[in-house]
Amino acid sequence: MKLCFATNNAHKLRELRQLVAPEIELLSLEDIGCSDEIPETGNTLQENALQKAEFIKQKYGISCFADDTGLEVAYLNGAPGVYSARYAGEPSDSIKNVELLLTNLEGAPDRSAQFRTVIALLIDNAPPVYFEGTVKGEITQNPRGESGFGYDPVFIPNGFRHTFAEMTPQQKNKISHRAIAVEKLVHFLSNLT
Ligand code: IMP
Repeated sequence: MKLCFATNNAHKLRELRQLVAPEIELLSLEDIGCSDEIPETGNTLQENALQKAEFIKQKYGISCFADDTGLEVAYLNGAPGVYSARYAGEPSDSIKNVELLLTNLEGAPDRSAQFRTVIALLIDNAPPVYFEGTVKGEITQNPRGESGFGYDPVFIPNGFRHTFAEMTPQQKNKISHRAIAVEKLVHFLSNLT
């Protein structure tokens, strides 16, 4: 089965290629000749993931999946959530996003947060199937660590003392929101082949 992963992130694609069964030929956007700006205008992670997958399915007629991730902070009523990439405005700037997050949490009594990833899978003409992965944790007072990306320097997963940015990629990938969602997707796909 040919399956497209609607992402431009080569790292995510490489990681998944190692996980899915050899019967599944995982194609990148480049492989299917897609260089479009894929719309991402949903109000939820689920809507965005589906919107990206539907765009590819409709335009290129290939089974496909897409993911969307957000950081949801309890004290901020779930913000930045679906707007995580552009929390401090466009163009997307991780350092400014982190600064704004820390400013908005100054004096907050509750710094609990979670990363949440939603994957939407469209196979042939079946209804979409969703897979979700979450990691709960706390937002630090200051950024710590150089590894990772996005909000990693200010997020400590529950049960750990280090931020995601202080962990090696291997450590983070074992416990991350994306890893959990991907594991569920891979399990689902393994039952199809
Ligand atoms: P995307 O849906 O994977 O593109 O993620 C949207 C935004 O969420 C990114 O631009 C980052 O700001 C943030 N984000 C997603 N995953 C992570 C992560 O694993 N660590 C830190 N920030 C993340």
